[in-house]
Amino acid sequence: MTALQAAPTPHHTSDVVWFDGELVSARDAYVAPFTHALHYGSGVFEGIRAYATPRATAIFRLRDHIRRLFASAETYGLRIPFGLERLEEAVCETLRANGFQEGYIRPLVFFGARGISLAPAFNCPTHVLIALKALSGSLIGAGSARVTISPWQKTSSKALPSGAKACGHYTNSILALQDAYERGFDEAILLNSKGLVAEGTGENVFVVNARTLVTNDASADILEGITRDTIVTLARERGLRVEVRLLELDDLYGASEVFFTGTAAEVMPIGEIDGRRFPAPGPVTRMLQEAYAGAVRGEESAHPDWLTRLSDGDAPGRAYDAND
Ligand code: PMP
Repeated sequence: MTALQAAPTPHHTSDVVWFDGELVSARDAYVAPFTHALHYGSGVFEGIRAYATPRATAIFRLRDHIRRLFASAETYGLRIPFGLERLEEAVCETLRANGFQEGYIRPLVFFGARGISLAPAFNCPTHVLIALKALSGSLIGAGSARVTISPWQKTSSKALPSGAKACGHYTNSILALQDAYERGFDEAILLNSKGLVAEGTGENVFVVNARTLVTNDASADILEGITRDTIVTLARERGLRVEVRLLELDDLYGASEVFFTGTAAEVMPIGEIDGRRFPAPGPVTRMLQEAYAGAVRGEESAHPDWLTRLSDGDAPGRAYDAND
């Protein structure tokens, strides 16, 4: 079978990727034309951030991301041929091999080529790719987001399990974000089949009322983000009340502040929802933005277990301590 070579790598992506157990040049990372995931979206992935900290580069909540990767893989019958610790090491090796001090890390586990059956687990090999992108700040941009309520409905978890971070699920987000861009917005919030707030295209949603934060959970067909969990923890530690319950559109419209959370978005204030304006950032959002920035950059000492530090001189695989 003829292999398709990956397009030339733009400079802001990694030159070296980790592919099925070894570091290779991104130019030599091939996928075959009948790669199952290319046709059907049968893969799972993670988005992880590494930040420069006063003590070397640190990866934020690496173990939690890799655990979620394994859980997503299990949902689709993808058998990852490496252990959890080996993949953690592989993330560190890839960062080091590319000399990235900061960046966005994309582990991707996908069904490869062998037949076109819709039950790939019985046929296809499982591949693991780790690539990097330069990213500092929020993917949505600086400042605040102008948001629209999407005409696209969030897929029900009975159709696609929203707790799995699977490639094919993102066609729903693609439709919603493309529609939002076409209408001049930065992001979309999707409602679920019951008309309740689900989430952004790649972010969870929080509302603030006085000193209470409210966010929804898996019962609203969302991916319960690792940033969401971080913010709930940081907020409670700072004396805020946090309620986890279903959110209605009126909860958004009546809120004093609204914000998104996500690995790529970080803590992103929402300044507008379809013409309704919100302070962005409001005081609570600002406090949580600062707390989050401190946590990912190792400036707050309460959660050393959230950081996996990379030190330059060490041998691959021994260069970090997940509990440091
Ligand atoms: N929801 C969706 C649909 C997402 O893609 C993401 C990004 N992974 C999130 C929520 C936020 O998750 P996290 O905070 O773990 O990045």
